[in-house]
Amino acid sequence: DLEAKVPVTTKDELGFLARSMNDLARELKRYQDSRREFFSNVSHEFRTPLSYIQGYSHALKNGLHQNEDQRQQFIHVIHDEANRMNRLIDDLFELSRMEEERFPLELELVHLGYIAQKAVRKVRPSTGEKAITLVTEIEEDIPDIVGDSFRLEQIFMNLLQNAVRYTEHGSVRVKVLEENGKVKGMVSDTGSGIASKELPYIFERFYRVEKSRARDFGGTGLGLAIVKQLTELQYGTIDVESRHGKGTTFTLCFPEAREGDE
Ligand code: ADP
Repeated sequence: DLEAKVPVTTKDELGFLARSMNDLARELKRYQDSRREFFSNVSHEFRTPLSYIQGYSHALKNGLHQNEDQRQQFIHVIHDEANRMNRLIDDLFELSRMEEERFPLELELVHLGYIAQKAVRKVRPSTGEKAITLVTEIEEDIPDIVGDSFRLEQIFMNLLQNAVRYTEHGSVRVKVLEENGKVKGMVSDTGSGIASKELPYIFERFYRVEKSRARDFGGTGLGLAIVKQLTELQYGTIDVESRHGKGTTFTLCFPEAREGDE
C-alpha cells in the first residue's frame, strides 16, 4: 500500500518531508487509478458497438437472415452502431482537446438569452411525438457575458437534448436571468430525474444512471463531461438539482462582462 510507505514519526522537517512524500504517493495512485479506469471504460464503450457490427455482418455474410426485412434490419444495426463509434471518437477527441490548456475559444461579448433561444429552435423538432412543451423565459435587459457563442450553444444543446431524452411528458423549460452580477442559464425538465446518490457522478466521463437505457437513447455518456469542461473554460460554473421521478434542473452561471471586456 502506497499510503503507508513513509512512517511519520516526528513533527520536524523530517516529519514534514515524510508527510509530503505520502501525499505525493497518494496523488500518484489516484491518478494511476483514474487513468486505468478511463482506458477500461473506453475499451468497453468501443467493444459494445463493435460486437454488434461483428455479429450482424457475420450473419449477413453467411446468409443467416430469414428474409429481406430481416436483412434490412441487420444492415440498420450495423449502420447505427458504426455511427455510435463515430460519435464516441468525436466526443473523446473533443474532450481530450478541452482538457489541454490551449483549447481555442473565440471569446466575444455574447447575449446568453439569444444563444438559448437559438438552441431551443434547433432542439424543438427532436421532441417528435413526445408530449413535451418547450418553454423559453428570457429576462429583459440581460447583460452580456464573455464567451464563445458556438460553444455556449453547444452547452445548451447538450442540456436540452438530455432534457428531451429523459422526459416522457410535461415540459422542458429554459430560463436566462440576471442575479447578483451573474448571468444564469437554467434548463429544467419534468422527466425521470436523477437519484441523489447518482448526482455527484453525472459529470464524470461515461457515467450513466441506467446504462442500457441511456445507451438506447443514443448518448455516448460524455455529454455532461463536455458541458462541464466547456462551461469552466468560459469561467462559468454548472450545478444540478434533481428529484427522482420529478425532474431535473441544470444551472449555468457566468460572470457578467465588465466595462472594457470584449
Ligand atoms: P448520455 O450521453 O448518456 O446522455 P451524459 O453525460 O449527457 O451522457 O449524461 C450522463 C447521464 O446523466 C445520462 O446517462 C443520464 O442517466 C443522466 N442524465 C443527464 N441529463 C439528465 C436529465 N435531464 N434527466 C435525467 N437524467 C439525466
